[in-house]
Amino acid sequence: MEPTDCPLCGEAAARVILRADFNLTGAAGTAYAVVECLACHLRYLNPFPSNLGEILYRFDKVLVPELNAGQLALLLRARYLIDAISYSKVQGKPFKIAEIVRKIEELLEA
Ligand SMILES: [Zn+2]
Repeated sequence: MEPTDCPLCGEAAARVILRADFNLTGAAGTAYAVVECLACHLRYLNPFPSNLGEILYRFDKVLVPELNAGQLALLLRARYLIDAISYSKVQGKPFKIAEIVRKIEELLEA
């Protein structure tokens, strides 16, 4: 998997916010990081899994919590033609676990 340029503006330069030792795809030796684009400040998973579309198509609902105006949800809708459900928060504070759980419960009941 190649590192992903910023999905919003195309900038390659990014700083690592969080390095994660988990694996979304089952491929051995793949490490992910959350990075922040140095140009537009979008934070995104890098690299995106190369089979992200296949992963997303497995689910009836795709919730995209993000601490911005919903740019990643817009990108996922445009690139993969899925009805990504944006859950954005722009208050300078992170999500509380309870907020995300509440949103998931709302979607499961709908
Ligand atoms: Zn950018």
